[in-house]
Amino acid sequence: MAGKSGKAGYPSFKSEGRYDSITYPQEPGFSIRDGKLALSKIGHIRMKMHRPAEGRMKMCTVVRDSGHWYACISVECEARTRTARPSGRHIGIDTGVTSFAVLSDGTRIENPMYLTRSLKKLSRLQKGLSRKKKDSANRKKAKLLVTRVHRAIRNQRADFQHRLSRTIVDQYGAITVEDLKVRNMVRNRHLARSISDAGWGSFLMKLAYKAEEAGRLFEKVPPHGTSQMCSGCGGKVPKSLSVRTHRCPHCGLVLDRDHNAAINILRRSTVGATGSYARGEAALSGPSSNREVPSVRAG
Ligand SMILES: [Zn+2]
Repeated sequence: MAGKSGKAGYPSFKSEGRYDSITYPQEPGFSIRDGKLALSKIGHIRMKMHRPAEGRMKMCTVVRDSGHWYACISVECEARTRTARPSGRHIGIDTGVTSFAVLSDGTRIENPMYLTRSLKKLSRLQKGLSRKKKDSANRKKAKLLVTRVHRAIRNQRADFQHRLSRTIVDQYGAITVEDLKVRNMVRNRHLARSISDAGWGSFLMKLAYKAEEAGRLFEKVPPHGTSQMCSGCGGKVPKSLSVRTHRCPHCGLVLDRDHNAAINILRRSTVGATGSYARGEAALSGPSSNREVPSVRAG
């Protein structure tokens, strides 16, 4: 008879879809030889190495995620601090309506094509899944496909955000962005918009820690009214989301809507910036050395 707990001693039921993992806390429980991963009690396994393991290997965790196995190896290595070249340039960044982001110097950053394609594929697969009969083999297959595309999107999005935040941090000494938390989120069926919204928060996190690592200044400002205000004269120019171009009746300025907003975000910065905002970029005042730049501020 089982004791008080009816389950005692029995392996618990594991559904097929859940994660499974094994951890090897140290070598020689695991090792890499001739491009194969050797795991004690399991054997030698062919693998695809995504990045070389540099440093002393500490721990290996093997994880199953939707039908694929991943080995994640932690290594111990010397801390590397990135020292970005000093930059006295200050940039403002706005989330674009149809693109991922727009910089105050007018640079437009599109969502990568591969990400847009994956999202379209996902919505197609999800429609297919909803038509499958409950508990059928076909439904199971369709579900696995959906999970895989989700994972691909997660990876593609993270990769895009890492590369973009790196580029921005390398180029600018101070970065001012709109704070998503206080933005009045507009529900929109526009695919590009939903990509931007989904990615903005995690993009800002990557941007913030890379900025800190490199000794850059990172600042979030409230975005209220940045798209309705004229960056040329400060006048109010109300416009709905569908109006793509800012046309100021007061001073005659004509500018892309998001570009105008990005300049206003830069202006809202409390960092001591000098120089003209005419090109949407400002020079930082004070010593040009990055060591003198105050530490990262968030929120
Ligand atoms: Zn104006």
